Amino acid sequence: MLELGQAKMRRLNPETLGGRLLLGNFLPEELQALMVEWGQPRYRAEQILHGYYAERRLDPMEMTTLPLVLRQQCAERFVTMPLKLVTHTRSSDGTVKMLFELLDGNRVESVLIPREMRDGRSRRTLCISTQAGCPLGCAFCATASLKLRRNLETAEIVGQILAAERVLGERITNVVFMGMGEPLLNYDAVVRAVRLMTWGQQPLVAPRHITLSTAGIVPAIERLAQESIAIKLALSLHATTDNLRRRLMPIARRWDLETLLAAMERYYRATGRAVTYEYILFDGLNDTDADIRRLVKIARRVPSKVNVIPFHPIDFTNPTGLAAELRPTPRERIAEFVAALRRQGIPTMVRSSSGVDIAAACGQLALTAAP
Ligand code: SAH
Repeated sequence: MLELGQAKMRRLNPETLGGRLLLGNFLPEELQALMVEWGQPRYRAEQILHGYYAERRLDPMEMTTLPLVLRQQCAERFVTMPLKLVTHTRSSDGTVKMLFELLDGNRVESVLIPREMRDGRSRRTLCISTQAGCPLGCAFCATASLKLRRNLETAEIVGQILAAERVLGERITNVVFMGMGEPLLNYDAVVRAVRLMTWGQQPLVAPRHITLSTAGIVPAIERLAQESIAIKLALSLHATTDNLRRRLMPIARRWDLETLLAAMERYYRATGRAVTYEYILFDGLNDTDADIRRLVKIARRVPSKVNVIPFHPIDFTNPTGLAAELRPTPRERIAEFVAALRRQGIPTMVRSSSGVDIAAACGQLALTAAP
């Protein structure tokens, strides 16, 4: 069974930094303390953070509000970009998959999903990773084949936004924690990353434009409900019975549906924010009329919406067992399923399959090229 504790321990080996510090790991109050240690006034911290996040100055020598000596000290002591672009691939639908190498050679992927809105504005959503690999072993997900290498540092999580903006030459407007890994198993780094990306007068992204997706780590959902960060929460539900959910997602053996849904309910009551249920449709497994009835019941417990996700094939990971038998629900049945939920008053969307041709769609991130 899953070693949840173990995941917590695995971090970037500090020796890889050769005595330098990851600037993106510092919360504002921590950077203030460091400035005091360096014999600087506290407000230098704010100037550095403003230069780094609001003005995207990755080279401290370009932080012209700082005195020259401090600029030099920052340039010597800080690593400001812990991700190196290895390759990027653009899909015919505009999705861009970026492969990054970390300082210790581990690799992660981030995906840009551009979308033109009806009101003429354009949204550029970055799907970011929180772990190199993932320990959860969901049957349908390609990342599972990597197992967990390690948790990402805060700087490596926020850094994906800064790095992606450089690669793409455009600003990110929305962030979804739906790349590699389970964000709530890297809780501290993820919450710190959210604090940093929403810091200041000109944040990298607004809290309401951030969605965290979890496979359902109950104690972490309870804890998240108490944080003062107003992000959106999505739960990877994918089944309406414990029996099927346990076969698809080993983590479901740890917390049953009732316990999990009760935690979502408490999350809603504590935050007042509607929740999202993600539901991948698997042919003949979780797409029956009985599933619709149970899903409606689940969705009605608290204000929520349902995101139906077409199953993206993961044959390229050579799956075995149940994973090898999973098939996408046919298009017509997806339409019926969605229509039935909507008739029952459940706000339901079909999540588009952006980037399927370049293995950049949900659940296809496994450091591979195209399927
Ligand atoms: N660990 C987190 C976030 C990563 S997965 C979580 O489980 O929510 C992001 C979303 O993609 C989840 O809803 C996940 O269940 C879904 N997903 C995984 N594999 C998929 C696949 N092969 N096809 C479609 N969606 C998939």
